[in-house]
Amino acid sequence: MPAHNLAHITIDDLEIIGYSVAGEETVVAMPQLDVCFDVGKAPDQIISINNILLTHGHMDHAAGIAYYLSHRNFQGQSPGTILAPRQLIRPMRAIIDSWAHIDGNKLPANLVGVKAGDEYQLKPNLFARVFPTKHSRGSVGYCVIEKRKKLKTEYTGLTGPQIVELKKQGVEIDYPMEVPIVSYLGDTQYVDFSQLRYIAESRILIAECTFYEPEHTVRAEAGKHMHINEFTNLLEKTRNDHIIITHTTQRTPMSQIRTILKESLTPQMYKKVTLLMANRRR
Ligand SMILES: [Zn+2]
Ligand SMILES: [Zn+2]
Repeated sequence: MPAHNLAHITIDDLEIIGYSVAGEETVVAMPQLDVCFDVGKAPDQIISINNILLTHGHMDHAAGIAYYLSHRNFQGQSPGTILAPRQLIRPMRAIIDSWAHIDGNKLPANLVGVKAGDEYQLKPNLFARVFPTKHSRGSVGYCVIEKRKKLKTEYTGLTGPQIVELKKQGVEIDYPMEVPIVSYLGDTQYVDFSQLRYIAESRILIAECTFYEPEHTVRAEAGKHMHINEFTNLLEKTRNDHIIITHTTQRTPMSQIRTILKESLTPQMYKKVTLLMANRRR
């Protein structure tokens, strides 16, 4: 019996399941892509996902790593892979080893340290690209990108055998194409993420917007989080089809957050936005 009532959102063919409240817990999984952004307290529903992409080391985003590994081991699954900012790998290894000692069982782990600019292959045609965020030292976000080959327009009218013949002759008939599926910002202050084209053009943007009330701008600044005033700036510059808001504060009721969003965004923009925590299953 899962301990959590996670939120569920379906966008076209992709499911997003998760839980994200500032200071409490953040975990956002996309099962079809086999990724989980941050691990929170490792709710049961995400244990079978093979790739954990940690954005930073704050406890409410990362505390579940040992339980994730232990539960997979217990169920006979592989350790999976945990990506994390590279300076966290050594202390993460230490705490996993300590837990193995406390638990009395081996805790196999595959930890991969990342920095902004890195790319990690998730599946043959699926990659996680790492970009910098402005939250804690070395904090990062991730964009999941599908890489395809597309036939050059001059060859689109050709038959199968003609294409085979051209390939035999060593002619480059296609070109590489990148399709950014989802960008996950994790915790961050406002920076102009639209400068990175793959973020600006991701089909789905999963972004934190922690604070909403005018007097909370100071809190946003202090905790290095986004306030709605900055968030609207960001959305004006990006071209995503769907925007999922995570990491909402408990200081403002969900109904009030929704009202403020509606007042702050254009109607077209408001239609694209989904509040993760307004979609919890009871
Ligand atoms: Zn957080
Ligand atoms: Zn944080």
